[in-house]
Amino acid sequence: KTRFEHEHEFIQAIEEVFCSLIPLFAKEDHYIEQAILERIVEPERLVSFRVPWVDDDHNIQINRGFRVQFNSAIGPYKGGLRFHPSVNQSIIKFLGFEQIFKNSLTGQPIGAGKGGADFDPKGKSDQEIMRFCQSFMTELMKHIGPNTDVPAGDIGVGAREIGYMFGQYKRLRGMYEAGVLTGKDPVSGGSLGRKEATGYGTVYFVNEMITDKQLCFAGSRIVVSGSGNVSIYAMEKAMELGGQVIACSDSEGYVVDYNGICLETVKKLKENEGKRIREYIKHHPDAYFFEDGQGIWSVPCDIALPCATENELDEMAAKILVANGVKAVGEGANMPSTKEAVAVFQENQVLFAPGKAANAGGVAVSALEMAQNSMRLSWTAEEVDQRLQEIMKEIYKESKACALTYADQDNLVTGANIAGFKKVADTMIMQGVI
Ligand code: NDP
Repeated sequence: KTRFEHEHEFIQAIEEVFCSLIPLFAKEDHYIEQAILERIVEPERLVSFRVPWVDDDHNIQINRGFRVQFNSAIGPYKGGLRFHPSVNQSIIKFLGFEQIFKNSLTGQPIGAGKGGADFDPKGKSDQEIMRFCQSFMTELMKHIGPNTDVPAGDIGVGAREIGYMFGQYKRLRGMYEAGVLTGKDPVSGGSLGRKEATGYGTVYFVNEMITDKQLCFAGSRIVVSGSGNVSIYAMEKAMELGGQVIACSDSEGYVVDYNGICLETVKKLKENEGKRIREYIKHHPDAYFFEDGQGIWSVPCDIALPCATENELDEMAAKILVANGVKAVGEGANMPSTKEAVAVFQENQVLFAPGKAANAGGVAVSALEMAQNSMRLSWTAEEVDQRLQEIMKEIYKESKACALTYADQDNLVTGANIAGFKKVADTMIMQGVI
């Protein structure tokens, strides 16, 4: 803790993983002898850099960029880029650390990385976004490549930003290396189904978990936080499976629509017009808007899907969800539930799908994009979705099996952490002390 004193989110992520590993170490102590814990918390490399750019009023702006290359035991570093004013070293390290176990769980040959900048894309013109992305990539390109480190999107980084960064990378390298970034538009070598993958994957995972307990999406009331990439496609899949999504949010507040959230309106507002979720009620006068995004957890529901950001669901919110009869929680976002909130769910037998397992569908399809780029071909959306479903089923099976061996079969937090850890740790041992 003293080593990472000011890195609160990073310490939180380490504690969550290490506590889950205790039952594993009780049975297999060679991981301790090999100093795997000491090694795994130290990134292989961390770069921080200046990102200068010029805004539309000709003012020079400076942001701070990061890339953490956390672990390459099982493949090239892989993980998204986040553009958000809250980005700092602690957040990038927590996300990179989570990525180690998540990427391992997908069963694909990908190591772990993460990056981003404290740049706020909100309210910026398209030209400003492009100039920022070009400046960011001018530095980042020194550290990445299809066989070394392959970034993707995250909060504030979608196909548009990836497109601008890909263009700049191509220009600086002087060659077309499609496999250097994932999350590209399909015309530039992006995979069909990538945009939908994290949200769909979360619902596929939760569906496996609840079906095991004779529950289902059909007829369930569902609350999904956020209204960004993960949230929109989690809502879409939950609706396809017969669930009724009644609330979603953004950082300014949440909407409740007891007729069922109209996804067409959310997509129009968020994907096409870049507007706030409060505008939803202009299109649906029967719906309600409430200030304060966190309040969304007071809406009674059967299934809660936190899909916005870290620590958005705290102990109080968890207790309210439990009092209102929630049966299952699936994390689409990274670490959206605090440690205390997870304890509340576990004590009250609420089925709980941890983010690093439940939201692994995004990076899994990113790895499929890398495979398609290497082979210079593209699979159909149906083929990608079929593979995604199989991967999510496999992650659930593996997490449950480890939970059963080391804890109890419903503790998917322990199960996912141990399953993800073992593969990476065993490979690190095979590769020697490096
Ligand atoms: P987006 O930027 O597309 O969307 C984020 C959404 O969350 C926005 O609607 C945002 O609102 C909202 N939000 C942010 N903070 C809060 C808050 N405090 N309360 C309520 N809503 C809030 O990001 P993504 O959908 O891509 O990512 C969401 C989460 O999923 C992140 O934790 C990310 O790391 C994780 N994730 C994403 C993957 C992907 O493939 N994109 C893969 C795996 C994990 P506003 O617009 O007001 O900021």
